[in-house]
Amino acid sequence: MKIILLGAPGAGKGTQSANISEKYNIPAIATGDILRAAIKNGTELGKAAKSYIDAGKLVPDDVVIGIIKEYLGSDACKNGFILDGFPRSIPQAEALDAMGVKIDVVLSIEVADEKIIERMSGRRVCPCGASYHVLYKAPAKEGVCDKCGQALYVRADDAAETVKSRLETFHAQTEPLKAFYAKKGNLVTVQGQEEVADTTRLVFEALRPYEA
Ligand code: ADP
Ligand code: ZN
Repeated sequence: MKIILLGAPGAGKGTQSANISEKYNIPAIATGDILRAAIKNGTELGKAAKSYIDAGKLVPDDVVIGIIKEYLGSDACKNGFILDGFPRSIPQAEALDAMGVKIDVVLSIEVADEKIIERMSGRRVCPCGASYHVLYKAPAKEGVCDKCGQALYVRADDAAETVKSRLETFHAQTEPLKAFYAKKGNLVTVQGQEEVADTTRLVFEALRPYEA
């Protein structure tokens, strides 16, 4: 299955992407994670991306399109994949089309802006990729990852002002993708729930018709 996950920042794409990846045994490609790793490692890519991410803006299309080309060309993606955070603009979606990639389903996780703001302020992440929330998905031991034991931290771009810019960017540049894919006929939407497990159930139900 070739899946695209859409949703506002903090809608829970990362969590659901991990669930889907496990259930269908396909890799999840998260452009945000790739960019953050590049920043941490001080690579050219990281240097190019940092100022945009810190401002809550999109990294230039050609930069992320280059990343995606590289990943989708790899053997690991032969049997399917989940794109988490790509495409995030119409030009990125057009680039995916131009690569000849045929997406089976585009799943949009819908969460209201007020909810997003509430969620982001409690988000805690781990260097291993796991993410938590102080209220909704607390780790067993405060500040420590259940999966790997590393210390959790607050993502720099989860600061309140940056969250506002990210939401504006989402509405202006990413949300139009819903109409773009609805027109192609492969958009499905799921309402994000209070409980992660409830959203997961809805996500799995939404994907079932697309199973090979
Ligand atoms: P979230 O979905 O919570 O905003 P991500 O980890 O997906 O977080 O992305 C973090 C930041 O990385 C974005 O705000 C943006 O600056 C950058 N980014 C990630 N994916 C893309 C993309 N496809 N195009 C442009 N910028 C991107
Ligand atoms: Zn961890």
